[in-house]
Amino acid sequence: MDGMTNDVDAAETFSDKPLAFTIPSRDARGRLVRLDSVLQEILSAHDYPAPIALLLAEALVIASLLGSLLKDDDAQVTMQAQTEAGTVRLLVCDYRAGELRGYVDFDRERLAELGANPSLFALFGKGFLAITFDGAGKQGRYQGIVPLEGETLGEACETYFVQSEQVPSLIKTAVRLDGDTCSAAGLLVQHLPEGEEGRERLHTRLDHPEWEHVMALATTLRHEELLDPELSLEAIVWRLFHEETEVRTIAGHSLVRGCRCSPEHYRDVLMKFPEEERAEMRDDEGIITVDCAFCSRKFPVAA
Ligand SMILES: [Zn+2]
Repeated sequence: MDGMTNDVDAAETFSDKPLAFTIPSRDARGRLVRLDSVLQEILSAHDYPAPIALLLAEALVIASLLGSLLKDDDAQVTMQAQTEAGTVRLLVCDYRAGELRGYVDFDRERLAELGANPSLFALFGKGFLAITFDGAGKQGRYQGIVPLEGETLGEACETYFVQSEQVPSLIKTAVRLDGDTCSAAGLLVQHLPEGEEGRERLHTRLDHPEWEHVMALATTLRHEELLDPELSLEAIVWRLFHEETEVRTIAGHSLVRGCRCSPEHYRDVLMKFPEEERAEMRDDEGIITVDCAFCSRKFPVAA
């Protein structure tokens, strides 16, 4: 490689910090992320069985990848997978300015019947994946909804990019559970040829040699490499793309668990309910206890 320009220390492994990269000569951009303590912190708030912990871990990786595409700190990306009759009823993750959170609502008894390694279809049945970008300022709000199909959430998310944004994309995720410790990492690569918009851009997907080349290299990345804590994200980019003329890398936001719950927030929510309904929710002391679905904290609210 002639030029690998970066503002990051190559010795870092980048746990909980996405790495952005661009390959200008191929009109490609990418993101790599490996979740560590932020993931343990989010999962530790719940008592999730292994298949649910792994599912949420993958979703959080994707939310981090999508979030690291945002340019504005006020912008938010929300990923929501849901079904009417699935074992998993709802999965929600969101990202804003490096703050990550997520939870899964599921049927514990039905999950137990599915065995150790349920497929995405077994978990959700016929479901939908909604991805919402709440851009700050004039970007406004944009939501795309696609069927929850494919082997993984990553595949469903690729469909979102192709169908809703007309951006050819490759997403690779790797998740692993060792005892109580969950590891999760992912790669996103996209083709964004300048001057090509919408359908025109999508049309280039199959026959564009630059994108085919980038895809061919990116697909060689193995799960073990993604999850290897000894291998920095910078080193992964180098392994995949060292023959390119130029690759630029930029470290992203450090990721933290962020929950925006507070007694004030829940009081505002409760005050929107009619008095009769609030009366039914109050305990003997006149307090309404609200559980935050994301972080499992309980809030006693006088409302
Ligand atoms: Zn919370």
